[in-house]
Amino acid sequence: MVVIKGMKPLSKQQGQDGHEGKSFQKERILTWPFFVRLFRRFFFLEDVMKGREILSNEDFKKCADFHGHTCPGLAIGYRAAKAGLERLGKGRATDEELAAVIETDACGADAVQVLTGCTVGKGNLIIKDHGKHVITLFGRESGEGIRMSMIPGTFSINERHRELIEKITDDTATQDERSEFEELHLQRTCEVLEKPLEELFRIEAASIQIPAKARIEPSIPCDHCKEPTMSSKLIGKGGERFCGECAERGECAERGE
Ligand SMILES: [Zn+2]
Ligand SMILES: [Zn+2]
Repeated sequence: MVVIKGMKPLSKQQGQDGHEGKSFQKERILTWPFFVRLFRRFFFLEDVMKGREILSNEDFKKCADFHGHTCPGLAIGYRAAKAGLERLGKGRATDEELAAVIETDACGADAVQVLTGCTVGKGNLIIKDHGKHVITLFGRESGEGIRMSMIPGTFSINERHRELIEKITDDTATQDERSEFEELHLQRTCEVLEKPLEELFRIEAASIQIPAKARIEPSIPCDHCKEPTMSSKLIGKGGERFCGECAERGECAERGE
């Protein structure tokens, strides 16, 4: 006998009304959709369809427009940003009321910028490139936030997908291989969009040291290249002040220092 979760109420009903034949009919009618769902899930049809619906929603389209393409990394950032905002009970930051720390500079960072309003330009997005899909979103006033870290093994690409990525990187992929790659990439994206959140991220409360608000300060020309530079970023050497680039190139050394 196969016991299928979700069919218990039927046997209860069967016992209550005492009409076995009628209940059997109901059971057959209710069982079919279950097997159809099972079939669709098994062949990823359901995932892909639902994922594709998300691909065409306004928020996701904004992220894809900003990022330039649709990819699994963008989908990870999309899911994290949505979950973080929802759990904090916040909307997109118009000023600097929210801040985000992202531990990768990969694709997902763009979705976080679009959806949370935490951006590089406003100074409320901090990228610590540890190469990890970890995003912490927090309220600037309280410093209390949500940290979302990707669960190990939740997102992996198969051998063929990896092979195709290498061919595209090396510019040796045929047109058919490019199409195959795009389809696989889209499937992975849809899987990320579709996966239950708790299978995608470990989500925990986090409190964080609040970063300083973006400062506005006068620019002063660098003593070598003369390009206006934020005064706090100038590097002083022997009574002169150099921008980071000139200092890095050793312009100060050339001047005999
Ligand atoms: Zn991307
Ligand atoms: Zn300079």
